[in-house]
Amino acid sequence: MKIHEYQGRQLLEGAGVPVPPGRMVTSAAQARAAYEQATREAGTSLGVVKAQVHAGGRGKAGFVKLVRSAKEAEDAAAWMLSNRLVSAQTGPEGLDVSKLLVAAGVDIAHEYYVAITTDRATRRNVLIASAEGGVEIEQVARDNPGAIIKTPLHPLMGLQAHQARRVAFELGFTGKQVSQAAKVMTKLAELYVAKDCSLAEINPLVLTPPTEKHPEGQVLAIDAKFNFDDNGLFRHADVAGLFDPAEEDAGEIKAKEFGLSYIPLEGNIGCLVNGAGLAMATMDIIKLHGGEPANFLDVGGSASEEAVTEAFKIILADSAVKGVMVNIFGGIMRCDIIAQGIVNAAKSVGFKVPLVVRLEGTNVEAGRRLLERAAGDLPTLQAATDLGDAAAKVCKAVA
Ligand code: GDP
Ligand code: MN
Repeated sequence: MKIHEYQGRQLLEGAGVPVPPGRMVTSAAQARAAYEQATREAGTSLGVVKAQVHAGGRGKAGFVKLVRSAKEAEDAAAWMLSNRLVSAQTGPEGLDVSKLLVAAGVDIAHEYYVAITTDRATRRNVLIASAEGGVEIEQVARDNPGAIIKTPLHPLMGLQAHQARRVAFELGFTGKQVSQAAKVMTKLAELYVAKDCSLAEINPLVLTPPTEKHPEGQVLAIDAKFNFDDNGLFRHADVAGLFDPAEEDAGEIKAKEFGLSYIPLEGNIGCLVNGAGLAMATMDIIKLHGGEPANFLDVGGSASEEAVTEAFKIILADSAVKGVMVNIFGGIMRCDIIAQGIVNAAKSVGFKVPLVVRLEGTNVEAGRRLLERAAGDLPTLQAATDLGDAAAKVCKAVA
């Protein structure tokens, strides 16, 4: 699960990481008021208006704007709320923006990258840090891999004080900045474990230029990205409560509700499958026959009538779907029961596009007979003899 930057900032703040004041707004008028409040609190006239969407690259897309008056904040907000955000991470159709963060802006002497994630190769959580912050870490990894410092964390002790200080020195912090930066990394590592994250990233962590009040500058988090392990959400009601359905595909939300794994893709052949391995094999064989899958939908081992009905509804809600292939292996569930479920589900949903069904496993003969008998009621239904036959039939049907 992903959350918004403004929510991530609240988590950081709660953990004691210094973050400039700001709040989430949904209108230009609110943006004006939020600018007044945040800049007053921070004692500056510089503000920043930032689109809140679950995608990065906002800066380059023009959806992070520095503003110097309430009027500018209002105008920036109005523009962001009425334009779609297109970045390297969104796809060409872009994203609708309905939430904004308006925060106090800061002057920046240097931008850093710090993140905690889990490294599967070493089976450790790892601190990733770089003095080349502000740009995507993937780009730094490509152009200048030596600029990335990776520090594995002890499974029980986490990020230790001496490690955090060493990384702070390596990043180039000096004097009082070292303990400020070390504290940020330590808090981030603690949050990562406490909240069952899969990514906790601050990019950029900034150092502000020296001022009278802060002669060595301040170390501040001005962006926050948190991803959470869905399997840990049951023990974090606070985190689960941060879920924003507006950011998710409607089909994916429905699928989650019924315990289905659903991933929309670009093609026009809907796939209904039980088991992730079978789903991938199905996508491969469709491509082999020149077709393009419209989705990856796994109804799970049981393939109950209810699950299949919901799965059909989700697939058919995608207007790009010109044909559907069902590929189910009857292991624990018998094929005749599955076939009956498919027929009932198809009748209740109402099928206009071709439906090709391939069953294999226990009682498969009875299952196929059932499909044949149902053909009168479901004119678009075709039973397939095997996987290759099913792929060929569905690809032909949508061609
Ligand atoms: P992202 O592009 O979606 O990751 O959005 P960020 O929040 O990281 O902002 C992108 C860039 O905008 C940062 O790397 C900074 O260079 C700049 N930026 C963001 N906030 C401020 C600010 O308060 N002051 C200044 N001077 N620059 C900022
Ligand atoms: Mn960023």
